Amino acid sequence: MNIENICVVILTDEEYLKLLDRAFSKAPELSAEKSDFVIPPVESMIQGNRTTIRNIMQISDKARREPDTIAKYLSKELSVPVNYEEQRLILNGRFSNEDLNRIIRRYFEVYVICRECHKPDTHLESGSNRGMFTLVCEACGAHYGVKSY
Ligand SMILES: [Zn+2]
Repeated sequence: MNIENICVVILTDEEYLKLLDRAFSKAPELSAEKSDFVIPPVESMIQGNRTTIRNIMQISDKARREPDTIAKYLSKELSVPVNYEEQRLILNGRFSNEDLNRIIRRYFEVYVICRECHKPDTHLESGSNRGMFTLVCEACGAHYGVKSY
């Protein structure tokens, strides 16, 4: 008999569910069966009326997008000017780390991760269709329109 079995036996259903919840809350944002891809958490810092994202390079590398394009997205979502300076993003305004993480996560979900195969090996093409990008998945070949920004 191993220790893990003993633990499960003595837990009530409620405790066991709580334990499961905790395990899932620690999991990456995407479910593990789909991908082991982890969206980098935003490292941000508020100074005065500006917010700096210090790890924009890490985020853009992971997304395989130019930092400028992510800056443009953030600028649109937050409705403030955003500057890319010395490998950091400077946002005009005070934004919580939680809000920034939510927006970055949405960026990955819509513009990076293929909705067909859930892999992040994609790129965006801006074709003739105004207001739309085409997301092209290099892993499974899917391509579909996403709203441009
Ligand atoms: Zn795909």
